[in-house]
Amino acid sequence: MSILTYRFRIKDASSRTHLLRMAGAVNYVWNYCNEVSLLAFRRDQTFFTAYDLHKLTAGTSKDLRLSADTIQQVCTEYVTRRTQFKKIKLKWCSRKRSLGWIPFKAAYIRLQDDTVTYCGHRFRLWLSRPMAGVVKTGSFTQDACGRWYITLQCDVADAAEPVGHLDLGIDLGLKNHIACSDGVQYSRANLTRHYEEALAMAQRAHKTRRVKAIHARIANVRKDWTHKATTAIARRAQVIVIGDVSSTTLIKTRFAKSTYDAAWRIVRSQLPYKAKRLAGVCVDGHERFSSVTCSACGARSGPSGLRGLGVRTWVCPCCGVTHERDVNAARNILAFRSGRATPRKGIPVLEGGEDVNCYLG
Ligand SMILES: [Zn+2]
Repeated sequence: MSILTYRFRIKDASSRTHLLRMAGAVNYVWNYCNEVSLLAFRRDQTFFTAYDLHKLTAGTSKDLRLSADTIQQVCTEYVTRRTQFKKIKLKWCSRKRSLGWIPFKAAYIRLQDDTVTYCGHRFRLWLSRPMAGVVKTGSFTQDACGRWYITLQCDVADAAEPVGHLDLGIDLGLKNHIACSDGVQYSRANLTRHYEEALAMAQRAHKTRRVKAIHARIANVRKDWTHKATTAIARRAQVIVIGDVSSTTLIKTRFAKSTYDAAWRIVRSQLPYKAKRLAGVCVDGHERFSSVTCSACGARSGPSGLRGLGVRTWVCPCCGVTHERDVNAARNILAFRSGRATPRKGIPVLEGGEDVNCYLG
């Protein structure tokens, strides 16, 4: 069983006022919890538990025009956050400083085609993809641009048989964002650079809404591309070995912008659960020496050092095989992991200097 989260945009032209009103009611409950917990703490030096708050808010759902379950979830969330941040009091919620959020359980909504009914109001959705599984919980959420979405957490059964049959090594890079050991490479334009000018112009003109919209656009395009690429990989592979590339060193160099843009973390977080859902596995491999080692003969004859960074293809002087840089690295990551090969010891790196390839891939 896997939990899958669907997120659909709400056609908010007509629902907007309802959603804002409900979000206001949620804030009201939150602030009430905040206030009453603080008073209790001052009086008795004890904190209210979620159960105490449930009792205090019982019977308010009709006046607040929220479902009783939503009010309970807000109380529980409040206690969770207060414990998590080890605070006596949390920040107040208001329409201006917090984004709208209305949680609910599946039993309190009715989903029919592209319409969700909650608390007597019908919300229409843009059903951007077909849904599968059983809805468990969800929430209405607002983004920084003021658009409303519904997120639905569903229980989805995993595939019984592996869908893909390949063993794939994955090399994450800056030029080709994802390179697979079978030669397939996924790359996209550097989005930060692509929207840089428009963003700077909007920022100079103090157009806050435009800035937010551009940031949302960048995030959406990046997420869409990454989802499509990782799904395609998970569909082909039974075993995925992903290099342990680290961005911590790279963000201090002139590659910082590209590194942030590449967003390796998203790829690394998506592949394991997508693999699991399709009855495959995703494991960590080692990135070290993957670029400099020839995947055909094991000699460390590849480009290394700062001078070797721009080399995309090279010919191994030991065995004469032509290598595509990132695919070669991906093959090595797979081979190191499965123990079929280790970088041959005692063969010096041809080009001198620091082996930056171990983290550049
Ligand atoms: Zn070779």
